[in-house]
Amino acid sequence: ATPTAVMVGTGVGASLGVLIKGGQALEGAHKVNCIVFDKTGTLTVGKPVVVNTRLLKNMVLQEFYELVAATEVNSEHPLAKAIIEYAKKFREDEENPAWPEARDFVSITGHGVKAIVRNKEVIVGNKSLMLENNIVIPVDAQDMLTETESMAQTGILVSIDGEITGVLAIFDPVKPGAQEVISILKSMNVRSIMVTGDNWGTASSIASQIGIETAVAEAKPEQKAEKVKELQAEGYAVAMVGDGINDSPALVAADVGMAIGAGTDIAIEAADIVLMKSNLEDVITAIHLSRKTFSRIR
Ligand code: ADP
Ligand code: MG
Repeated sequence: ATPTAVMVGTGVGASLGVLIKGGQALEGAHKVNCIVFDKTGTLTVGKPVVVNTRLLKNMVLQEFYELVAATEVNSEHPLAKAIIEYAKKFREDEENPAWPEARDFVSITGHGVKAIVRNKEVIVGNKSLMLENNIVIPVDAQDMLTETESMAQTGILVSIDGEITGVLAIFDPVKPGAQEVISILKSMNVRSIMVTGDNWGTASSIASQIGIETAVAEAKPEQKAEKVKELQAEGYAVAMVGDGINDSPALVAADVGMAIGAGTDIAIEAADIVLMKSNLEDVITAIHLSRKTFSRIR
């Protein structure tokens, strides 16, 4: 393509809300035959809500949520935000909820959070976090997790003083149109894969819901990047689409990194292309633009 064609291509992209950071980024996109999608905030809306609580011990729900919220209020994670929003309902002053004081707060990336609240040890997170803390997961908690995951929701365990006290079900719906984007990509001979830090059950429910055949769950940021490299080693030209800090190593590793405009600054910086309107369809727009610029005029 001539420099003029590249300028036209990036210009058209900009007018459509697809920010292409230079000629190389535009060129890379026409070769892409495999796309790795992050789940949370990329394929899903990214605004999770608590939809169910199951208490396994004799504790008042309000007290339970005070302990959980006091622990989560220190976390930046979208799941923490969902939990706080929900916990507010149990407070008298919803606008100004004063949570009990938490000390010794620890955030375990990709697993959950821990703190001491009212002299109780509160642990909120996934199964592996509980196992690492030698907390036994009773059958009813496991049943609730399985049920939650089969409905494409995320189950979060709460341990208080070493015992599983409750299970929360959190729902983050798939973006409207996600399924169609995957099916159009398939028709363009582009393979789609999903990577997520979420558990395997929820991951496979979401993947099958939108027609993605391969999913990698419980993936740390480096493992998301590893997956990209693995696909490149298999000969694929790989694009990564993500929104989070935890996607940035994979965005950098990919032949083309695409960030969701509503995502974190770090992801936007790491990407070659930014989808300013945060529309998944614009993944296709970017590929089309690149194919037009680089495949037709030679
Ligand atoms: P994602 O790729 O879905 O953003 P993360 O790697 O951030 O996932 O987190 C993976 C899992 O760790 C979550 O699905 C959840 O089970 C658990 N987790 C992480 N942070 C928290 C938190 N603040 N509270 C509860 N659970 C958490
Ligand atoms: Mg995400």
